[in-house]
Amino acid sequence: MQELRELYQEVILDHSKRPRNYRKQDDASNHAKGYNPLCGDKITVFLKLDGDVIQDVSFQGAGCAISTASASMMTEILKGKTKEEVERLFEHFHNVVTGKDEGEDEDITEKLGKLAVFAGVQEFPVRVKCATLAWHTLRAALESREEAVSTE
Ligand code: ZN
Repeated sequence: MQELRELYQEVILDHSKRPRNYRKQDDASNHAKGYNPLCGDKITVFLKLDGDVIQDVSFQGAGCAISTASASMMTEILKGKTKEEVERLFEHFHNVVTGKDEGEDEDITEKLGKLAVFAGVQEFPVRVKCATLAWHTLRAALESREEAVSTE
């Protein structure tokens, strides 16, 4: 378990140092802003939707390692997904980071893929909002909500 934890930390560190899809989209069809006052994380999520399908997703912002890594990994797995698939993923992700889903590791990995690295966050409740900020902001973008999302 210790080795696994170190591997998880490496993945999170890598994404926080070199975030993927870190760019603005001038021709985005949807975007939303999110803020986590507890930690100071700020994020903007950009989406290009084709009907119900995410064609492109990217983000910009400033935040802690967990929030940046979470946004980076989220953008990596969402391309080609439908709104409904996104909702399901978010539900699993939320359950795992809040410790509601204490299923077997293999089970979590099957549901979440690479996002399973965030299972360690459940030991640090104050970090849950860092890990979920990108997802809350993504949902706001999908719904074209104008006002900024706050985790408080
Ligand atoms: Zn944070």
